[in-house]
Amino acid sequence: MKQTEMEANLHCTRCQEETLHSIVYVNDQMKSVECTECHQKISVQVDIMKEFYKEVYEKIATKPKRMTQEYKANLNGFISRLPIRVLSKPYRLMRYLNESYKVIKQYKK
Ligand SMILES: [Zn+2]
Repeated sequence: MKQTEMEANLHCTRCQEETLHSIVYVNDQMKSVECTECHQKISVQVDIMKEFYKEVYEKIATKPKRMTQEYKANLNGFISRLPIRVLSKPYRLMRYLNESYKVIKQYKK
């Protein structure tokens, strides 16, 4: 899970002109757009845990067919069993989870 910041020239409704905007993305989803001149900020509601689980699911789904069926059958059950599956995965995934946790923590203030 990654948080990315980008800058782009967009029309600001408050400044009434094109200004430099700071755009924040979580993964591929836009989280917020802020005018760097007047600091008008538009936040997009990101369901951070949903994004996270979706990503974890994609990463660990090495047996897509069975996992997908389970996933569809009972999403909550799938998530509650996730830690057990994750533990059997290599260190690389644990490191990834730690990085993701840092991003998620920002949303849990
Ligand atoms: Zn502005």
